[in-house]
This record gives sequence, structure tokens and C-alpha cells, in this order.
Amino acid sequence: MVLLRFAPSPTGPLHLGGLRMALYNYLYAKKFNGKWILRIEDTDTARTVPGSVEGIQKALEWAGLEYDYGPDKGGPHSPYYQSERRDLYHSYANKLIDNGHAYRCFCSPDELADVKTRLARSGSNSTYDRKCLHLTEEEAARKVKAGEKFVVRINNSVTPTRVPTHDLVFGSLRDAHLSLSTDPVLLKSDLFPTYHLSSVVDDHEMGITHVLRGEEWITSLPLHLDLYTHLNLTPPQFAHVPILLNQNRTKMSKRHGDVQVIDYIRRGWEPEAILNWLALAGWGVKYEDSPIEPSSPLSSPSPSSSSSSSSPTRIEDAPDSTHLMSLPEMISSFDLTALTHRSSVLDVNKLEYINKHHLMNVWNAEKGLDTLARRAHGYIKGVYPSSPYTTVENIKQVISLLQGRLTNIQDIPLHAPYLFIDPDLESEEAKGMIEGITLSNDSHEQRVQVLDTLKKLIESNDGWIKFCEGSNESVMESLNEERRKMGMGQRKFMMLLRYALTGMKDGPGVVDIIRVLGQDRVSARLEAAKD
Ligand code: GLU
Repeated sequence: MVLLRFAPSPTGPLHLGGLRMALYNYLYAKKFNGKWILRIEDTDTARTVPGSVEGIQKALEWAGLEYDYGPDKGGPHSPYYQSERRDLYHSYANKLIDNGHAYRCFCSPDELADVKTRLARSGSNSTYDRKCLHLTEEEAARKVKAGEKFVVRINNSVTPTRVPTHDLVFGSLRDAHLSLSTDPVLLKSDLFPTYHLSSVVDDHEMGITHVLRGEEWITSLPLHLDLYTHLNLTPPQFAHVPILLNQNRTKMSKRHGDVQVIDYIRRGWEPEAILNWLALAGWGVKYEDSPIEPSSPLSSPSPSSSSSSSSPTRIEDAPDSTHLMSLPEMISSFDLTALTHRSSVLDVNKLEYINKHHLMNVWNAEKGLDTLARRAHGYIKGVYPSSPYTTVENIKQVISLLQGRLTNIQDIPLHAPYLFIDPDLESEEAKGMIEGITLSNDSHEQRVQVLDTLKKLIESNDGWIKFCEGSNESVMESLNEERRKMGMGQRKFMMLLRYALTGMKDGPGVVDIIRVLGQDRVSARLEAAKD
């Protein structure tokens, strides 16, 4: 069974890049009927930000990415906070020291800085002179006993570093850059492990079969493979995913717009749309035959790809339908070899289109309307704090009325403010409408007559029942009957009604609006529009 892990460091709110990584782990696990873990990598105490774990959990829950094991869920390898697993890392560090693959280093930071400068001046690319490697066991033990601070370093002086050759995304890694530091630290002087030791230990202890992580870790892969070798463990398979970039191809940062998942939650985007959007950023290439992208910086072109005449088909160029995927569809079509080898740009313009589609999907799902109304409720209440029409039931009606018009659930106030508050008949738009209708004094009188007549119709029980129970066609027919009696043209008549009820030129059908507004509000608006 495949077992994957999403292993964020709790250094702040979850970013889109983190959510995409969680998604890819989830998709791979689900595709192969496996499981995935949420593991909190909180060993860098200085960078840990309180509240981050809760934020990460909330974001994953919102996105519908349910992990099988994790801090709040437990599991066969709890605890899932690395800070609570320190004894385990110490035991592995001791194992490495005992078998000569690691050693304690007592050099102070100042000493280390001097050594590094000296080595650099002499043209060496070593970063440490391995002074402490030569301490005898007794000398090291004496220093520990005397309370001297130390770190544990891997000893790479004996076996040559294993050069990784394969990655599930990149294929061949022959040109991968290696990390150049000499005997990197595994255990810090505060006795917390570095990422290298804790991730290798936990991936092994937890039985992780596939490590799917950011491309930035590719340079550490040789070190990780060394650790597996020195500990006599079988490494998992590795898949490195290129990073996400802003549209201007810079590293994603807050300066260039929203990068945190919470921003997208607050802005009312559909969770599945965000996942669809993130999935496509980096998973945008379908190959007709060769699975290796020829221009990857890290892999040598395979003979078939360099000579292949079939060019990769970007999903961007493919029919729209290929853009749009539900979570189950993402699971079934997820393929590591179809991930791009270059950093991917997140195109915000795509999100609106994707979101509109997912809104319709939710709408069509069982209890979908309920879900949408509940999600919109808080926001709408915030926009119209004193409106009595912001109940979930009312919002359900509003969403039904605006079905197909909304790009984002938070666009409701943009499309139909008049369903929550009185229309603004003084707006430029409303004034323009009335100018189109009232061209002379005569027509002003006619307007008042029409509004009065309609008001009477609405206020009569029979009339109102007709509005509520009749089909749109039969209601329109009786409206037309009144209109004809008053000798008014159809276009002006409908425009006048729309003006009175909404103050806006465009929108859903007037009869539908009347039904949602209800008898009292309609008659009050017809009255108010006479002025
Ligand atoms: N804690 C690492 C990070 O947040 C995780 C890397 C990994 O997945 O191994 O980048």
C-alpha cells in the first residue's frame, strides 16, 4: 500500500504552494488506494509560529483534503509532531555515531566561521575542516560530560556521496546539483534534529513509500540517500515538484497578491475550484507519447523525446473541458509523469472561469444549495448588517435566482443588492433607466398610472396568488393584459418594472424577482418609484 505524507513546517499560514503539495500527496495516495499523513515538522523552534498548525488543519479541512493520520487524528506512528519525537532522532544519531557515520562537533559558531573563511581563501570548496572528526571517543565523552555544547554531523569522509539517479517527476537526475556543505549537521546544539535527520527517520519509521515534496529539496537528496545507506535502510521513492510562481515569474510572495489559502477562503472561492486551479498549475502538460519533457533543466533528454516529432500539448490549448475537474476526476487522472519540470505560474484569470463551473457543480449536488447558502451567509450578513433578509433560507432563494450568473458566491451583492436592501433609484444606472422611460410629462403620468395599477394587482390576493403559483408565461400574460389596457409598449413596461424593483438594468427575470421579494416589498417599491 502506498503511504505518503504532507509535512509542513508550522512557520505561518498555509500558502497556495503548500496546499498544492498536500493536494498532490492526497491525489497520489487516493489514486493507489493508499493513505497519507499530516506530519508537523516543528523542529526549528525559532521559526515556529503559534497557531500555524490549526491554520493548516483548517485549510485542509476547507479544501476537503482529509488525511488519514495526523496530530488531531492519531495513527500508528503518533505523535505526528516532530518536536515530540526527539528521543527517536537521538537514538538514530547515536546509531550513526556508533557505526562511524556521524560524529560530535564541539566547534563554536565563531570557530566555524573562521574555518569556513580560511578554507574559502585557500580555494577549497569544503565548508568545514572536520577537526572534531579526529577527536577520540574519550575526548568527545569528556567534553560531553563537561557540558560542552555540540552538534552531530554526518561523516561523509569515508563513503563517497551517493548521487541520486532517479526521480518520479524528473526522471533522470544526472545533472542534479548537490548540496556542497561538508558533513552537514544532523542534530543541532539545542538537541533538535535538522530537517535532514528527522525527515529520513520519520519517513522510515512511518513506512512512507513515496516522498512527494518541493523541488527545493532535490539538492538535499544525496545527503538523505547517504543517511539511508549509513543506517542500512531502504529509501522510499522520491518525487520532486517544481515550485509555483507569480504571474510575473517571481517567487510567490504577499507583495504580489494573495498567496495564503486563508485569503482565498475569505474571498469566497469554491474549495474544489482552488484545487482544480492548483492542480493545473504544474500539471499542465499532456504528452502524446513521450512522458519526459525535453527541456527539463535536470534531466537529460531521452532519445525518444528529443527526436520525437509529437510536441507536448498544453492543457491551456486543449478544449475547456480539460481544465475542469472534480476531486474524483483529479484523482483518477493524476500522473506524476505528467507534471511539468519547470516552475509553474498561477494564472489568477483562470480561477474565475474554473470557479464558475465548480459553483454550478455544487449547486447541482445533493444539498448543494444549502451548502452554498450557508457559506455565503456570514459574508452577506457582513455586507448588509441591518437587513432582515440575510437568513439562510432567503439566501437560498437568492442563489437560485442568480444561478448561472455568479462567478463567485460573494458576487451576490454585486448582482442583486436589491434583494437585501431597497434599490438605489438615485444611482446613475437607475436614472438612466428612468430617462429612457419618461420622455415627456405624459409618460410620467403614464408611469404613475402603470405603477398604481400593478400595485393594486399585487396587493389583491388573487393577483398575488397568480404571481406565486402561476407559470412565468401565465403571469406574463396577465401582466401584458394590464399593459395593453394602459397602452404602453412592452419594452418600456418591463423596464419600468425592473427600475422600480431593482434600479438595475440587468438581472434575472422580473417575475422571478417579484416572487423572491414578496408581496410587501414589491408593493412598497412600486409606490416609491412613483416619485
Ligand atoms: N518541512 C518541509 C517544508 O515545509 C517539508 C519538506 C518535505 O516534504 O520533506 O518544506
